[in-house]
Amino acid sequence: LSLLSVTAVSDLLASNASAQAHSQPGPGKTLKPQDLVPVKVPPMHHPTEKNDGPPPTPIAPVKRIGYALVGLGKLTIAEILPAFGSCKFSKVVALVSGDADKAGNLARQYGVDPASIYNYENFDNIKNNPEVDVVYIVLPNSMHKEFVLRSARAGKEVLCEKPMTTNSKDAQQMIDACKTAGKKLMIAYRIQYEPNNRMVRSWVRDNKYGKVRLIESTNVQNAGDARQWRLNKALAGGGSLPDIGLYSINTARFLLGEEPEWVSATTYSTPGDDRFKEVEETVLFQMRFPSGVLLNSSCSYGVHDSKRYRVFADKGGWYGMDPAYTYNGLKMEVSHAEGKIEWKENPSLTEKDQFALEMDHMSLCVLENKPVHTPGEEGLQDQVIMEALYESARIGKPVTLRKISGIDVFRGPEPAELNG
Ligand code: NAD
Repeated sequence: LSLLSVTAVSDLLASNASAQAHSQPGPGKTLKPQDLVPVKVPPMHHPTEKNDGPPPTPIAPVKRIGYALVGLGKLTIAEILPAFGSCKFSKVVALVSGDADKAGNLARQYGVDPASIYNYENFDNIKNNPEVDVVYIVLPNSMHKEFVLRSARAGKEVLCEKPMTTNSKDAQQMIDACKTAGKKLMIAYRIQYEPNNRMVRSWVRDNKYGKVRLIESTNVQNAGDARQWRLNKALAGGGSLPDIGLYSINTARFLLGEEPEWVSATTYSTPGDDRFKEVEETVLFQMRFPSGVLLNSSCSYGVHDSKRYRVFADKGGWYGMDPAYTYNGLKMEVSHAEGKIEWKENPSLTEKDQFALEMDHMSLCVLENKPVHTPGEEGLQDQVIMEALYESARIGKPVTLRKISGIDVFRGPEPAELNG
């Protein structure tokens, strides 16, 4: 086949898929219980072998929730677009980009109707596209707010990448805009939908090895090109803290279900390093939770990649993940004493695509009209905590936060579909 005919075939496939999709009604209206009955496959292994869990329950592509992706950068291209292949309830139906050639190329690869490609100027026309149920915002941090507001005005549900934005005032406006429009706002905290992390959380909550007293978390990597938006204060809001330190904050809150009473931080940037003229390189930070648990954490843009956390309990055990926070290759680790033996174990659950889990959760919430597990309020709370951390670094003292009682107060109901 010549290159020309390959392109022609893919254009034809894309236009067929889009013609089929355009003839279907919107979310929720077509989902019937029989769509969710798993197709059974005969068992192959002895009951003593690891159980892979139930087979997937796909629904027909035309009945899936349609996503518009805003921002076709590294995360969208390398992770989110491929993740649709593992989704059960979600499909990509529109692309939004400042680069028409890139958008056209990706539209051909993923069967998106060329008529459903938008740029940042004509984005508001998306309100007239009934195929788009959810807008997924994957832009530099300070651009999230504008596109959340525009998406809500266009009558679309919203999934927004972390960090939610660059300050708590904007975060509140994003929540208010979606509430006023009667639309869902979910922050893309993929860790909270990932089975290994959810298992660690169950150990924390069930006091496996006793009550947790201490959590340690590290998320560091070496930033490259000094001109990238992540090192630009106006676009990123900060340096390593909002980008990767956020994982330690959000995961500790997710594991414990509690909110910190006070936080403390020190920031540091290597003098003369061009990359850190506007944003910080490293943050060392601590916080205390109402039950007495302490978090000790570090994030940095100036050292070789390492992502891990460890939970220390008071009855002879610690557990955690190393690596943690990565897209794949997550590894749990457990250490506990039994008589004269110190056990070191690496239990594992079958790995699943974290972006597919997260998008499918959003899609099910739209299909069934239920609240999302990680709403805007969850993102706002992280913004409040990060502001307090910067304030602590500035004044050189711990900062006390508003007292928040209860467990999981900023989260929606548990994502039941992930418990199987
Ligand atoms: P990226 O730089 O690869 O992509 C950003 C996209 O935005 C690019 O396509 C760029 O062209 C576009 N853009 C539009 N206006 C721009 C401007 N003024 N300056 C720079 N770029 C502009 O970034 P990314 O890694 O895809 O990150 C996007 C968002 O996703 C960020 O909020 C980031 O924090 C988040 N993210 C989340 C995860 C996760 O695991 N959940 C991982 C990576 C990134």
